Amino acid sequence: MAPSDPSTLSTTPTCPKCGYDQSGEVATWESQCPLEGRCPECGLVFAWGEVFDPVLNDLYWYVEHGKSLMAMVQRTPRTLAWLILPHRFWQAVDVTKRVAIWRLMIWVLLLMVGAHLLVSVPYGFGAWHRYNWRGVSFADYYASNGLHGVGKIFIDGLAHPALETNFRGGGRWPTSLHFGVGRAYAIYDQIVKPTAFQIGFVLLWMIVLVVIPKTRELVQVRWSHIGRVLALSALMLVLWFEFYRLFYAMMMWTQYRSGLVRDIHQLIIPIAILWQIVFWSSAIAIGWRVYSWRLLVALGTVAALLGGTALRVYVFLASTI
Ligand SMILES: [Zn+2]
Repeated sequence: MAPSDPSTLSTTPTCPKCGYDQSGEVATWESQCPLEGRCPECGLVFAWGEVFDPVLNDLYWYVEHGKSLMAMVQRTPRTLAWLILPHRFWQAVDVTKRVAIWRLMIWVLLLMVGAHLLVSVPYGFGAWHRYNWRGVSFADYYASNGLHGVGKIFIDGLAHPALETNFRGGGRWPTSLHFGVGRAYAIYDQIVKPTAFQIGFVLLWMIVLVVIPKTRELVQVRWSHIGRVLALSALMLVLWFEFYRLFYAMMMWTQYRSGLVRDIHQLIIPIAILWQIVFWSSAIAIGWRVYSWRLLVALGTVAALLGGTALRVYVFLASTI
């Protein structure tokens, strides 16, 4: 529990939400310390125990609170499962839970790269299958093209349609690869289209929360809390995109014949946008415990939706010129 003499504290007690220094409050204690306190700056009601020892509140399943790389790996599936339902996630990972922003950002980056590499395998084979007009088996393909052929599948998986690989030369089985920038329409259709709306949406929320002084004053949270929301939102944006890519790969595999695969593929981005709306709203209303959240969430969501629409329409127009 909290030590009774504030002069023995190794760290300054600060409000978990806004970072306000609570030493002044602690100095007023005479013979005993209360269990609960209220931040004079942002109004957050907290337990003094969690202010003196932020690790006390750590969640056993949450990746940001894992102490080692192994612990973070083990916590990854659970953290992702909790993220599927944003309001539940923010009930658990609220503003009193310790933020480890660098740990979180490294995890997010590794997961983004990992997901991309993972989906690149079916995607590369999907792209190969799609252009395999003659129905050549993979064994025959390998026999004819060797490692260049495998390299082509791998690079297509990673970079298609931004980058396209081709065999150069006019012979029957030319073996040298050359790289070219993909066709603009394919880049638009498979990269920009599934991401533009969400990027615009997130950008506008950031403007509302960071740039506008009035709303910044209203939310009163430390930068690390904003960083946490942004990092997780960006992670899910990329994961939704990789999911979209995976289903695109399946469409190529099934040669666009499966109605079910096509339908799911169509639904992924609308679901992703819906998820982002709920995620940002819940972060503010539930996670950050912003007391007058209704107007902020309503206006912020409308602004973010307009931002998403604006960016989406802009890239559409830019791509048709
Ligand atoms: Zn505070």
